[in-house]
Amino acid sequence: MATQQINPPPRLLMGPGPIDADPRVLRAMSAALVGQYDPAMTAYMTETMGFYRTVFDTQNEQTFLVDGTSRAGIEAALVSLIEPGDRVLVPIFGRFGHLLREIAERCGAEVHVIEVEWGTVFTVEQIKQAITDVRPKLLAVVHGDTSTTLAQPLEELGNLCHRHGVLFYTDVTASLAGNEFHMDAWELDATTAGLQKCLAGPSGSAPISLSPRAVEVINRRKSIEAGIRSEGDTVSASRIRSNYFDLAMIMDYWGEKRLNHHTEATTMLYGSRECARLLVDEGMENAVERHRLHGAAMAAGLTGLGLTLFGDQNHRMNNVVGIEIPDGIDGDKARAAMLTDYGIEIGTSFGPLHGRIWRIGTMGYNARKDTVLTTLAVLEQVLRTGGVRVTGGGGVGAALELYADDAAASGSDAGIGADAGATEVERTATEAAAV
Ligand SMILES: *Cc1c(COP(=O)(O)O)cnc(C)c1O
Repeated sequence: MATQQINPPPRLLMGPGPIDADPRVLRAMSAALVGQYDPAMTAYMTETMGFYRTVFDTQNEQTFLVDGTSRAGIEAALVSLIEPGDRVLVPIFGRFGHLLREIAERCGAEVHVIEVEWGTVFTVEQIKQAITDVRPKLLAVVHGDTSTTLAQPLEELGNLCHRHGVLFYTDVTASLAGNEFHMDAWELDATTAGLQKCLAGPSGSAPISLSPRAVEVINRRKSIEAGIRSEGDTVSASRIRSNYFDLAMIMDYWGEKRLNHHTEATTMLYGSRECARLLVDEGMENAVERHRLHGAAMAAGLTGLGLTLFGDQNHRMNNVVGIEIPDGIDGDKARAAMLTDYGIEIGTSFGPLHGRIWRIGTMGYNARKDTVLTTLAVLEQVLRTGGVRVTGGGGVGAALELYADDAAASGSDAGIGADAGATEVERTATEAAAV
């Protein structure tokens, strides 16, 4: 029997990520390959660095990609910054804080953690107290943690760190481009991300940015590998304990030296570059506003269905919302029905929240009015089938009302102009049809 090409079912991915990639990103990823030192390729690499400076809102020269999913970026940052025995402070408010602790431990750090209940975040005072108590070399904290849907405020922490001689790292995989973030103004030393949340791409590339302070710490450990080492190249006594994630060598690959390290994943670079290019074109402020609007409409719709939102709503990310699974309904069965009967995926949850909440994302390419309204309409149907009493049309109605109020407040026509992203999306549809 002949083998068959994969033919994935059409899905609308409204979970906490991954989401449907923007068709323009997928098109960029079908472009022909070039050699790794082809002038076209090195030009794409340099452009990508520039685009990501805008996305991270930074002037950092060292802004580039680590090949691999988001945790490749996390691991590269931590293994390159942490020497065995270094003290690291990790405030944990969800699953991904535990991941930072786990990776820092594997780097040989002496890890100190503070924890709050899932669904809440830390006060600046709590983190300040821990910094004074622990005196760490590095503070590693997640910005937005999709496991709880909350975002830890970061704007005051950088200054606090630097007054105490502490390096400051954050994972913005879930939050970047959907929530306000300013790498330089907030004094971050290292920041890593991924594509499959608000950046509208597939997972597999981890954008990273390093402050001059972080670069200095990393370059002090530089050990260029044998075989490409030149005379006079130093070999550090505290060599970075991973070759693949050795940021000192990766910076030499992306920098003017173009010193060979790995072979840059060309197709992922095309995709990652397009994710950033689209955001540069849209403008970061507009992208955040788009996520705010559609996230608010989704939250209003879910409330309109009579559901209870999870966690401290003052600190909820724009792009993902948790809802308590109503009594009497089988959460997994309902999710399965959404997927098989309607082609819509929403998210389950981990750890202490497993079986308690669903998570619904409105991010990247899927932060749109039509996806919000469709998901609410379908969820209403599935809830009713599962025996939950819901207000007929309550979800879609509440979301439409929010769009109308928002349009009235911003002075645009509620009927057509409520969705700032619509024209862009329509243009995409026309473009796609023309291909
Ligand atoms: C989704 C997410 C990740 C994902 O990591 P991958 O290696 O790309 O699976 C990492 N960190 C945070 C905070 C996330 O929300």
